[in-house]
Amino acid sequence: MNVHDSEKMAGILSETGYMRTDVTNDADVIVLNTCSIRDKAEQKFYSELGRLNKIKKNRPNLKIAVAGCIAQQKGEILFNKFPYVDYVLGPNNIDSLQEWISSRAQNKEHRSQTTALQINPEYHTKTLPVRREGRVRAWVSIMYGCDNYCAYCVVPYTRGRERSRSSHDIKTELIKLAKDGFKEVTFLGQNVNSYGKNLLEDSSFSSLLKALHEVDGIDRIRFVTSHPKDLSEKLIKTMKELPKVCNHIHLPLQAGSDKVLSLMNRKYIFGEYMEKVTMLKQAIPDIAITSDIIVGFPGEDDADFNMTINALDEIQYDGIFAFKYSKRPDTKALDLPDHINESTKSARLKKVLKLQEEITFGKNKRLEGKVLKVLVEGPSNSDKSRLTGRTGNNKIVNFYGDEKDIGQFVNINILQARQHSLFGEKV
Ligand code: SF4
Repeated sequence: MNVHDSEKMAGILSETGYMRTDVTNDADVIVLNTCSIRDKAEQKFYSELGRLNKIKKNRPNLKIAVAGCIAQQKGEILFNKFPYVDYVLGPNNIDSLQEWISSRAQNKEHRSQTTALQINPEYHTKTLPVRREGRVRAWVSIMYGCDNYCAYCVVPYTRGRERSRSSHDIKTELIKLAKDGFKEVTFLGQNVNSYGKNLLEDSSFSSLLKALHEVDGIDRIRFVTSHPKDLSEKLIKTMKELPKVCNHIHLPLQAGSDKVLSLMNRKYIFGEYMEKVTMLKQAIPDIAITSDIIVGFPGEDDADFNMTINALDEIQYDGIFAFKYSKRPDTKALDLPDHINESTKSARLKKVLKLQEEITFGKNKRLEGKVLKVLVEGPSNSDKSRLTGRTGNNKIVNFYGDEKDIGQFVNINILQARQHSLFGEKV
């Protein structure tokens, strides 16, 4: 979500005549797009801001804007603590960047130290320019905000209540992406399964998928994130029926204990989650399932934690993102009793990651010798002499190929499994 927001900010800056630079010292405007999902990300932002302050001392005309969830939460406080910040905009006000930049560029009104923090109820009706990374896969926002109020999460407070974009606007964006040569799209939303709740048109996520499946030129459709409570049998059936919808779902479990799930306000119990996993595996046998796990949530005792370990063992995810619970301002979990100490959280995280590494590697290993269809994205980040791409079920595959393979589907014989990727040769 944040990466795509950054693409929108880059799109606005490009349209206003700014060019991207990778050299911080060359920049006239720097926008820091922040994330406050965990304390670590927030601390990283503050240290980056300190670094920019040093640059600004030598170049006083440099303008610094802070965007994203920390901007939304802290607002004016950022000006008081960091007087060298010029502009603060929340995730619902990305379009305001255009006005701020234009007024600066034309020198009509020097709007230093202003904020744009209203949660704009019409934000989802706007189509912003986007400067996309890559030319094969594209992110497309289908909804904003969240109504779920999980006890550990700041998103409903920083991004506001759930609002869906109209299917017409999304389809128009997809048609343009197809014209521009993109082959794969990933629909973004905090909870894509509840798409359409606020719309007057009769729309569910299943019907949206069916409508967008018709767009010629788009060959693969992904979506993220799915809330388990809203994953319906109808949606699973739609995933099975539509060939362009990839065989992968990110379905955050968070914890294996019903007690912890209830404290987290996740609105499902482990048994219900497992029923959906079983349904998915029966409908789409080669589906890859990935998840998010939080360890050390307040009140999680050893028995609760072991239920998470057992869940990983039983479900056999293809991959997970696992984190230690992190205290976040304004969230309900702050007031819960029995916060877990850091060393216990670290030990639990280590155990979860070790188990999942074994599972992921075992799954990758079973793909050796198989021929997989890969959509080629471009040179690999770790080794520019190789190309990288993904299978439908989201396995990263690296191989030696030609420039002309980029944007094409190629068949790759898997020679070697690695922890987070596969290596193979073109067939
Ligand atoms: S579903 Fe829960 S974790 Fe996800 S964005 Fe909404 S409140 Fe946060």
